[in-house]
Amino acid sequence: QWGALQTTICKTVGDNNYQTWIKPLRFCGLEGGVARFDAPTNFFGNYVSQNFGDLLISQIASVNPGVRRLTFKVGDAANSVATPPAPKPEPAAAAQPARDELPGAPLDSRFTFDSFVVGKPNELAHAAAKRVAEGGPVTFNPLFLYGGVGLGKTHLMHAIAWELRARNPGLVVLYLSAEQFMYRFVQALRERRMMDFKEMFRSVDVLMVDDVQFIAGKDSTQEEFFHTFNALVDQNKQIIISADRAPDEIKDLENRIRSRLQSGLVVDLHPTDYELRLGILQTKAEMYRAHYPGLQIDDGVLEFLAQRISTNVRVLEGALTRLFAFASLVGKPINMDLVHDSLADVLRASERKISIDEIQRKVADHYNIRLSDIVGPKRVRTFARPRQVAMYLCKQLTSRSLPEIGRRFGGRDHTTVMHGVRRIEELRQQDGQIDEDVEMLRRALEA
Ligand code: ADP
Ligand code: MG
Repeated sequence: QWGALQTTICKTVGDNNYQTWIKPLRFCGLEGGVARFDAPTNFFGNYVSQNFGDLLISQIASVNPGVRRLTFKVGDAANSVATPPAPKPEPAAAAQPARDELPGAPLDSRFTFDSFVVGKPNELAHAAAKRVAEGGPVTFNPLFLYGGVGLGKTHLMHAIAWELRARNPGLVVLYLSAEQFMYRFVQALRERRMMDFKEMFRSVDVLMVDDVQFIAGKDSTQEEFFHTFNALVDQNKQIIISADRAPDEIKDLENRIRSRLQSGLVVDLHPTDYELRLGILQTKAEMYRAHYPGLQIDDGVLEFLAQRISTNVRVLEGALTRLFAFASLVGKPINMDLVHDSLADVLRASERKISIDEIQRKVADHYNIRLSDIVGPKRVRTFARPRQVAMYLCKQLTSRSLPEIGRRFGGRDHTTVMHGVRRIEELRQQDGQIDEDVEMLRRALEA
């Protein structure tokens, strides 16, 4: 049946797409409205689902009405270990839940220590996670990881869980989001199964709760969380918590919980810097290259992306995924043209918002002169050089035109700005000190 459908699909998507994306899929069957496929990689499955999902569903539904969803799975054995089945919607009947009935969320098989790229902004969090993952005597309890969206909190938590389980298969490691914790709690209340609930959470060896800020303002969930927390700490069981901000900054959190959360080790993941972004891109590009052996990537593309894309690693990964997909579809190398073609929206969204004001202020600070001297008329070297540095940075880091920049520097002419920019370009080649100053300022402004 799938064989027959492929002909129609091929006609619709074109031979090129068909060969690249559809042919490598292996159909594994239908089950309750879900059509299951094996795909060569996770990326592959996501791509097919996003781009051809609707088509596949409508085609399959034309012979099997009722099909509403597709799932893609990578390989066989490895993945079934890596992704435990999702928790069952029905509550378990036994009073003492068996280990595989624990209400944890599945762990993502890609989120391991091996695939986590370490840099300055995350080295402390990584080191702390590693230490906890080694098992052994409980030293930091709880470990509290916090940081902005897409900086790797969930990745680190899953990595800890994988590592702990690998080192000690008997260990009961429970990972779930604070939202799931609340959901389970409410369900237990409703079904009058609070004893089971309490027993179950108190029977784990390691408890991980992701995005704990979610329970702020939810009083009875907080209360239950607090009791669970205390019971586990009393038994010397490891607890790992993440949040999008520091415990102090989570509003509507009871004080006793706040202080509990702070009682272990609190570490934060800082926004990524250029080097970390480049490292992550290089690592991921290596992975993709293994899947697309013929694909060529121009020098400078990854540097450009690391420079231009925001600190959220998820956005960075998405851009790279899109780039590889695009390149393999159109059969072109990955170069700057392709970047502009396929990532226009991402680049626009992450456009720098650095202002001329900000640059002028930072430069004045750096050279220990006044802002009025940067924009003022004096032409002595002590002011002129920083002024040129500021003009140069405005040209590099904002999208302002030379005349606009000139206006903001005390009404100077655009040729003056151009001269200043060129002068700094030359000096960066000749004068290590200037080069270093400019680089430092650039980083400070981009941070
Ligand atoms: P958070 O939970 O902090 O919002 P995630 O852990 O979900 O962020 O990370 C978002 C994405 O970025 C994931 O795909 C993750 O693998 C990836 N990622 C984040 N930090 C790193 C890193 N240092 N090295 C490799 N991948 C990373
Ligand atoms: Mg997360």
